[in-house]
Amino acid sequence: MEVFSSVQGEGPYVGTSTLFVRLGGCDLRCAWCDSPHTWRPAPHARFETGRGSGTFRERPNPVALEDVLAAAEALDVAAHRFVSLTGGEPLLQPTAVAALAQGLRARGPRILLETHGLAVDALAEVVAHVDVVSMDWKLASDVRRASDPAGSRAAPFHAAHARFLAVARRAPEVVVKLVVTPASEDAELEEAWRRVAEVDPGIPVVLQPVTPCGDVKASVGVERLLALAARAESGLRDVRIIPQTHVQIGAL
Ligand code: SF4
Repeated sequence: MEVFSSVQGEGPYVGTSTLFVRLGGCDLRCAWCDSPHTWRPAPHARFETGRGSGTFRERPNPVALEDVLAAAEALDVAAHRFVSLTGGEPLLQPTAVAALAQGLRARGPRILLETHGLAVDALAEVVAHVDVVSMDWKLASDVRRASDPAGSRAAPFHAAHARFLAVARRAPEVVVKLVVTPASEDAELEEAWRRVAEVDPGIPVVLQPVTPCGDVKASVGVERLLALAARAESGLRDVRIIPQTHVQIGAL
């Protein structure tokens, strides 16, 4: 859907120069999603015409791998510390992710895969080509599957995330991100970090207070965040509170 140059706006590599390659399509519906335009494949892909310019040229979809690599070259991909393969949900297209990761990694940047953390078979296909798996741990209080009836609550995602995390650990680095909203329930948060600790208590876990967007009108107060982090730290060695930052500087 998009190729553009910016800085990483969230997670442990926040602030690092990053070239984003955004793939279309998603099978979840997060209440706080900041990119609902990615839920369905778009008729056109947008390629930024200069680093940070915010201006784009369009190409009809589907675009060829060579066109994406050329768009990345035009944005001086080698000058970035990371390429973020993001979405939508990139693992709905594992063949494309593997090809993009190999083609862009060869140009120098590390490959960071941003994923909802559920498509375990697809991850197994691509994990050898990825340097950092940045996976969400979705909470059923705020997330439903696109196939769920409107208004229904999704079944918990914990077991699927645990299976995904076990495969993600084959990558050099894995980070788990939990978006915390006013609706997030203590029991599901505690279950999430208990499951992470079962795999490895040293895995970095980021508590990301939701950025108000869509139906989410408010974020989470610092008192609640600090209390949650303290509880998470009783079982995990690397817990961090990191809000999204790119919105503060007006970056894409
Ligand atoms: S998984 Fe990502 S793209 Fe899909 S709805 Fe959730 S936040 Fe949006």
